[in-house]
Formats: sequence, C-alpha cells, structure tokens
Amino acid sequence: MHSQQARTASRAAVFLDRDDTLIECNGLPPAPPPAQPGDLVDPSLVRLLPGVLDGCRSLSGAGFDLVVVSNQGCIARGAATCETVEAVNERVRALLVDEFGRGLIRAVYFCPFHPRGRAGWLAQEHDWRKPSGGMLCAAAHELGVVLTRSWLIGDAARDIEAGISAGLRPERCLRVGGGVDFAAAAARVLAQA
Ligand SMILES: [Mg+2]
Repeated sequence: MHSQQARTASRAAVFLDRDDTLIECNGLPPAPPPAQPGDLVDPSLVRLLPGVLDGCRSLSGAGFDLVVVSNQGCIARGAATCETVEAVNERVRALLVDEFGRGLIRAVYFCPFHPRGRAGWLAQEHDWRKPSGGMLCAAAHELGVVLTRSWLIGDAARDIEAGISAGLRPERCLRVGGGVDFAAAAARVLAQA
C-alpha cells in the first residue's frame, strides 16, 4: 500500500492560472453587470494568449501534468454559474491540445467562493481561494503530484502566494506579465526540468 502510494505520488505538475495567464480577460470588453472587468463568462470569447499553446505542449512533452487552478469568485458574486465557468474551462481544454488533438490539461480546479459574494453559502472566504493554497493541495492529493517538484505560472501576486502557501519552492512560482510572457516562463521550467 505504501509503495503504491509512493509510486503514485511521484509526478510533477505545472499549476496554471487561467485568466490572463492562459487566456486574455482584462483586455476584453466588460460583460454586463453584475460581471466585473476581468470576468470571462462567455466561452466564445476564449482566446489563448501568445506562446501558451506551444508552451503547454512543451511542458506536457517534458512529462509535467498541467493543472489549471482558477479563482472564479464571479460565481459567488452572481455574475456566472458553475455551468458557465465550466463551459469556459471546456473551451480552454479544447484549445490546448497536442498535434494529434489530445488534451494537454490533466485537470481544472476552480474556486467559486468570494467573501463579498451574494450567492448564499458561496459568499465566504475559503481555503481554495488564492492566495491560499487549497486548490493546489487538493490537486496534489487527488492526482498524485509532488508539490516540492512542481511549478506554478500565474499573472498575479496571489498566484505566487498560493504556490508558496501550498509548499512549492518560491523560485518555482513564476509570474507572467510585465514583459515576461508564457513562453519565457515555460522555457525557464524546461531549463531546470
Ligand atoms: Mg490571472
């Protein structure tokens, strides 16, 4: 039993923020209220950012599990349903495929909670909500991922904090934006893989 667990928990992941890391959100025209700028609630608007497809193909090809971890407080704020968010996620998965059309994303985790939400029990702080590391810890447990061998790529400080909080090495939590694009982050992971 223990040997099986040890063998299972041997994979390394690259945890990926979704919005403005994999796909463009902040640059899109805002959806009608109660959506806020940056909420992507329409699957037809999903566009991969430059370098994301090739970067994900390279990371997957190097043996990393690609796991999306995304705050979606828009659900608690009443701007989207879980089904809407899942439809957007499915569109992301459909775009992130290898040259044979096989999906590159092993799993998608999203956090529907928001402390200033209005949707009943979702209106609360939660360990899954970045900058907490709950989503990464849950994914590691469920997928057999070793956090100390894993990486994170995100565009916000809370992404980096979530990775460190979950137990990733700080130097393996990479922030894109401000001149550092996804391709550069992926190359940095691959250079140390
Ligand atoms: Mg983001």
